Amino acid sequence: MSQVKSSHNLSTELKLIHFFQENKIKGWRRNFKLFGKPDFVFPTLKLTVFVDGCFWHGHDCRNVSPKNNKIYWKGKIIKNKQRDKIVNSKLKSANWKIIRIWECELRKNKILNRKFNIILT
Ligand SMILES: [Zn+2]
Repeated sequence: MSQVKSSHNLSTELKLIHFFQENKIKGWRRNFKLFGKPDFVFPTLKLTVFVDGCFWHGHDCRNVSPKNNKIYWKGKIIKNKQRDKIVNSKLKSANWKIIRIWECELRKNKILNRKFNIILT
């Protein structure tokens, strides 16, 4: 099942770090202890960033559904989506801002620029 990638993927995080460096975005932390384990946290901005794997979080961008054990994977993906919603609402109620980026959007600077508009000056 080579197309299945876990949500906490180092290479995807490195792509975003590269984007931060190119745009001189500072103040981010990794492994910051917070509900939902955001991939990046900007503590002073009260901003969390999640990079969601397209498969695991059910993005409909491309056909990433595996041929085998369809029901099993579907169940997992539904659970992940439900968890994402819980994480969003819990963080929002604690006044954290949330930016969620799909894995496939990491290659699209236009989308990244738009999503990080609030911290790009
Ligand atoms: Zn996607």
